[in-house]
Parts: sequence; structure tokens; C-alpha cells
Amino acid sequence: MSRKILRSSPNAALDKTLLNRYLDLPQPDDKILAEYIWIDGTGEGLRSKTRTLNNIPNKPADLPIWTYDGSSTYQAHGENSEVFLHPVAIYKDPFRCNNNVLVLCETYDFNHIPCATNKRFKCREAMDSPAVKKEEPWFGIEQEYTFLDVDGRPLGWPENGFPGPQGPYYCGVGADKVIAREIVEAHYRACLYAGVPICGTNAEVMPSQWEYQIGPSVGINAGDDLWISRFILHRIAEEFGVVVTLDPKPISGTWNGSGAHCNFSTKTMRAPNGIEEIDQAIDRMKNRHVEHIRAYDPREGKDNERRLTGICETSSIHDFSAGVANRTTSIRIPRSCAEQKCGYLEDRRPSSNCDPYSVTNALVRTCILNQ
Ligand code: ADP
Ligand code: MN
Ligand code: MN
Ligand code: MN
Repeated sequence: MSRKILRSSPNAALDKTLLNRYLDLPQPDDKILAEYIWIDGTGEGLRSKTRTLNNIPNKPADLPIWTYDGSSTYQAHGENSEVFLHPVAIYKDPFRCNNNVLVLCETYDFNHIPCATNKRFKCREAMDSPAVKKEEPWFGIEQEYTFLDVDGRPLGWPENGFPGPQGPYYCGVGADKVIAREIVEAHYRACLYAGVPICGTNAEVMPSQWEYQIGPSVGINAGDDLWISRFILHRIAEEFGVVVTLDPKPISGTWNGSGAHCNFSTKTMRAPNGIEEIDQAIDRMKNRHVEHIRAYDPREGKDNERRLTGICETSSIHDFSAGVANRTTSIRIPRSCAEQKCGYLEDRRPSSNCDPYSVTNALVRTCILNQ
């Protein structure tokens, strides 16, 4: 791989040690900073803004409802621009520490109707239904992503041309194989501090491509945990002057794309002989393939079309398939589950930029509620 100096992000050039002088200033006990975070009109972008609270919030209901200018986030028109922020989950703030918090919010329009990109609303309805609650659905999501330089090329790639072919980079070690591990390590720690159940990470097949895993998270928490982990990732990379893309196919051709494999199980699947329930879930998913593909990226299949080509460890977007330990199928049953006759399944179709609320909603409605 040829050498290239990190280009022109002003963030990378700022002296970060200066900030510590101000972060070392004592913070008044009765002043808590809350970073309200929400999904914008693209269904993929995150926005956030800060306010001061006078009390430490223990639950979302302790936090005030707030508003923002939806005409600046592709979510409203200027003449009727206010969108409501309803706090729904609280995490510790790994950037400001102390008692400060990150607050994940749902968005509601001026009529108090969920915004088009508030996929959490419907997901929560499904997760709150008695039949779903009883099954305690677990999700483990593998978030793949790629670091970009500010010019849009993958970080560390030569300006003209390409790095050496894929092969040595996956789970690699060494300066000729691995790019920006600092950000990966910082993100892992920050997630643990925040209370996000991050459970692993690895360098991916394409140089500058990485993955981390969240879970198992129960029900609605899966979506909450993944969205907050994405916020933390973008926020840390920003400090390093690096861009994170969740585009499912950042470089066309035989360079691997990025997915967000969703590992899913119910109480019945995890219990002895749960394999029968797994098989039944796969049968039901087969009948909903087209619908699921529409739910598995923010552009209703258009993004995944570039990724799910049937090559680069993917299945074809047009076909539904399943198999044991098979990475060219839509659904993979892990070898250990086939052997133990219980466990979980892996839905390999969700795009890296999917909304996890849409994915987990589709899975429980199809597999548990049989809708
Ligand atoms: P892969 O072999 O596909 O790369 P990973 O190790 O990257 O798998 O990810 C496995 C994911 O499966 C993790 O997110 C983990 O939390 C999740 N997982 C493990 N057991 C279960 C289960 N019973 N139900 C749901 N998810 C699970
Ligand atoms: Mn993985
Ligand atoms: Mn992977
Ligand atoms: Mn996987």
C-alpha cells in the first residue's frame, strides 16, 4: 500500500491538549449537560444538540421534551418547522464524563405524529406486544463500516490507484495491513463507558474497513444501542479528522461491501430443540423476502442492490436462501447451532446503513407475530 499523508480535515490539525484545560474546570454539581441525539431526514444521518439540566436524569421521563428546526434536517418546511424530540434512552456521556448524558430521542412532527424516519415507533409497538415480550427477542448486530479521508477515498488508500488485493487485511495486524486502529480502540472503550453492550470488533476484508458487534441486546434496546454506538463512532472519528461511512458498497467491483448482519433468537430458539423454531422462522422469512429487503436499507433496497450481488460473501438481492455455516446465503445458521439443535440465526441481508429498528421490527413481526 503506498503512503499518503492524512489530508485537510481542520479537526485533525487542532491541538486537542488545549481542550483539557477547560475540561479540567470543575463542573457545578447542579449543572448536567445532556446531548440530545436524533436521526435526521435521510434515515441515516445523526444530529445532536446540547442543553443544561439542573438534575441528574435517571430515566427518559426525567428529561424535558425539546424541539429543533426540522427544515434544516430534511424533516419539515420552514413555515412549520418545529419537530419534537422525545427522550427515549439515556447513556453515560464518554466525551464529557461526570454526570453528563447522551440522550437518544424519537422525532415527532408538529401534529405529534412520528416522523417518517422515526422507525422506532412501530418497532416499539411490536416489541411491547405480549407475544414478543414473552419470547425475549435477542439481537446481536455486526456493524461494518469504512474510514474515509476527507476527500472521500478510503483512509490510507493511494490517491491514484488501489492498495494490494484483499486477503491480508481481515483481522490483520501490522502497519501494511491495518489503518486507524486508534479510532477503533477509542470507540470500544467509549461504548463500554457509555453503557453500550459492545461485544467485539475486528478489521475487515477491505483495507480501512472495520466491524464491531453489539449485543445480545433485548428487544428495542438493540436499535437504541446500535444508534448510540454509531453516534459515538462518528463523534470520535470527527476528532481524528476522519470520516466514517456506512455506505454498503463504498468501492464498486470486487472490493467487499459492508453489512449489518443481524443475529436473532427467541426464547424458544434458545431452548432445547429450538432448531425447529429457527427452521419455521426461516420459512416465514422466505415469504417476506421482498418486504424485508425494502426494510433493510434507508432507500428501500436501492443501497443494498449495489452490495447484495452474490459475490464478496453476499447472497443475491433477488433470491432468498439459507444454510448452515454458509456465507453466501441470506440466512446463515451457525455451525454450533446446527450441532446443538438450538441457538440463533444470522440474517446477512441488512445493509451497513440500515435502520436497526426497521430490521428488528421486520424480524419479530415475521418470525414471532407471523404477520
Ligand atoms: P460472525 O461469525 O458472523 O462474524 P460475530 O462474532 O461477528 O459473527 O457476531 C456474532 C453476533 O451474534 C454478536 O453480535 C453476538 O452478540 C450475537 N449473538 C450471539 N448469540 C446470540 C443469540 N443467542 N441471539 C442473538 N444474537 C446472538
Ligand atoms: Mn462478524
Ligand atoms: Mn464482517
Ligand atoms: Mn456475520
